[in-house]
Amino acid sequence: MIGRLTTDGRSPATVRSASIRSLRQPSRVRIHTPSPAPDPVPVWERKLTTERVAIRVREAEEVLYPVRWYRWITAAAERTCPECGGLAGHTWSEQQPGSSPPLHVNCRCRVALDHLEWRVRYVARWRTRWIAQPAWSWQRTGWE
Ligand SMILES: [Zn+2]
Repeated sequence: MIGRLTTDGRSPATVRSASIRSLRQPSRVRIHTPSPAPDPVPVWERKLTTERVAIRVREAEEVLYPVRWYRWITAAAERTCPECGGLAGHTWSEQQPGSSPPLHVNCRCRVALDHLEWRVRYVARWRTRWIAQPAWSWQRTGWE
C-alpha cells in the first residue's frame, strides 16, 4: 500500500514528527523586551568618629585608717617604782606589741589615748573607666 505524499514529497508521518520536534525546540525568535531598570544601589559614606568605650581597670585606691597611740601615765608619787617611773610619758602605737599597765602588783599606772594617727593603705580595686576610641561609622547618603 502506498501512502499519500505531501506536496514536498515527504510522508505525512515524517511531517508530523518534524512538526512535533519543532514545537519542542526552543524558539529561535526572540521577543525584544526592554531590560528592567537596575535596582538602586545605596551609597554609603564612611566617617571617623570617636565613641566612648567602657573598660575595667584595676587601680590602687588610697584608704585612710586610724592608728591609736597610747601614753603611759604613771602616778606621780614617791612610792612609784623605778620601772614605772622610767615608762612615764612613753607613747606607743597599737601596732607595736609591748607591755601595758599594770606592770606589777599594786601598780597605779594607767593608759591614756594620746592621739590618732591616720595612715594610708593602698587597696586594689576594679573600676569602670570611659575612654574615647576612634571608630568608623557608616552612613547612607543616597542612592545611585
Ligand atoms: Zn606602775
